[in-house]
Amino acid sequence: EYPVYGRIDGPIVMIGFGSIGKGTWPLIERHFDYDADKFTVIEPDPRQTNFLRQHKINHVTTRLTPENYREVLGGLFSEGKGFCVNLSVDTSSLDIMKFCREIGVLYIDTVVEPWAGFYFDTENNAERTNYALRQKVRDEKAANPGGTTAVSCCGANPGMVSWFVKEALLTLARDTGRSVDTPSDRAGWGKLMQSLGVQGVHIAERDTQARRQPRPRGVFVNTWSVEGFIAEGFQPAELGWGTHEPWFPENGHSHDTGCKAGIWIERPGAITRVHTWCPTPGPQFGFLVTHNEAISISDYYTVGDKDAPDFRPTCHYAYHPSDDAVLSLHEMFGSGRQQEKHHILDVDEIVEGIDELGVLLYGHEKNALWYGSRLSNDETRDLAPYQNATGMQVTSAVLAGMVWAIENPQAGIVETDEMDHARCLEVQTPYLGPVEAHYTDWTPLQDRWEHFPEDIDETEPWAFRNVLAT
Ligand code: NAD
Repeated sequence: EYPVYGRIDGPIVMIGFGSIGKGTWPLIERHFDYDADKFTVIEPDPRQTNFLRQHKINHVTTRLTPENYREVLGGLFSEGKGFCVNLSVDTSSLDIMKFCREIGVLYIDTVVEPWAGFYFDTENNAERTNYALRQKVRDEKAANPGGTTAVSCCGANPGMVSWFVKEALLTLARDTGRSVDTPSDRAGWGKLMQSLGVQGVHIAERDTQARRQPRPRGVFVNTWSVEGFIAEGFQPAELGWGTHEPWFPENGHSHDTGCKAGIWIERPGAITRVHTWCPTPGPQFGFLVTHNEAISISDYYTVGDKDAPDFRPTCHYAYHPSDDAVLSLHEMFGSGRQQEKHHILDVDEIVEGIDELGVLLYGHEKNALWYGSRLSNDETRDLAPYQNATGMQVTSAVLAGMVWAIENPQAGIVETDEMDHARCLEVQTPYLGPVEAHYTDWTPLQDRWEHFPEDIDETEPWAFRNVLAT
């Protein structure tokens, strides 16, 4: 009853079997034809050993490092074909991607991850940005165009949300009475966004998944990687910086090299709040956590010269994680230390809630349009095993990216903005629950507490100055 999208010849190696790896495995099993005895998981955490053994999955326990990755992966991919699915933390996406391309192996990941130590040991904040991490991948693409496909950053966000931006643009074009052919290249998409008057995009997310038990003190609780969230939460707040912005943050910095689409702020993202909007809560606070897509989307839709563009949208994450994760952040930043215990909420302990993850396109003639997935944990349980709603939005994007890669095996290094969004969403949508478009007349000037003076710009409702909460 499930479509099989093609055959993967040679070994499949999954690096990391955490919340995302464990949820991706059943989708690979369901949707690809491959030799099961050639599927291997590299996972150093002994807590996964039993599961892997029970499911007869080849298991390599080596922790990948800059010293051993070529040898370990080279051994597993000795046939010079296959697929490397990187779903780990603390491994360099760039190094592994380069090696896979060198030996003719398809590659996918969900984040530009650095080797262990990068996030906390790098002293210069500009170097700790996702801008810097992403730019190295872009530079590698420019230096070595074409060749074996490597899909960079293909999870929910970064990933699926880039496909949602395109679908939202087509929806907005239709709803404002324009007849628009689907653009076929980057220039066409940029012009479409510009012509629709879109000023910017929030990746607007509200995760309401909760378990019955209150969060115990001293435990960081999240709905996906705790390590991953802490690492990105401590990176500087970052955003793609649009051409409509009339003001520049005092503690903001632009970059001298690279695509020039983003800026960073001298403050950790996970305690930088922004005013945003999602269908369930309406107006809400989100955290300006840095993400690859904030830069990639602003870059992709830039019209004109990168140094003085005619048009560029502002773009950033506006994340309201699960309530337990909000409390965990509060405790961690307040105490100045990370909790020693980490816990990812399991599909079976979650008793209510959805992950509402979409893109909020704002500043146009219909004010703002939210387009996204409103997947509940309950529905997820019926869709696929071993994951909550958050995981399902990520793993189904990995599946879509893998399908695209086997259909386009010589596309070189690509980001999700550069892939066929319609094909990818066709594969992914059965796993996303309700995918909906919602218009709102809310702007960041509304629903504020009026008793205190605020540094806002009444003439530009969607200016980042108004979005940023002080
Ligand atoms: P997790 O923390 O549950 O699992 C990560 C796994 O990587 C762990 O099991 C760990 O043992 C393993 N690992 C750590 N160091 C390793 C090494 N050196 N070599 C091999 N394996 C190693 O994380 P998760 O929730 O499964 O997330 C996995 C990755 O996906 C993270 O990088 C995360 O940031 C990313 N992610 C992306 C999205 C998205 O939407 N784009 C969403 C969620 C997670």
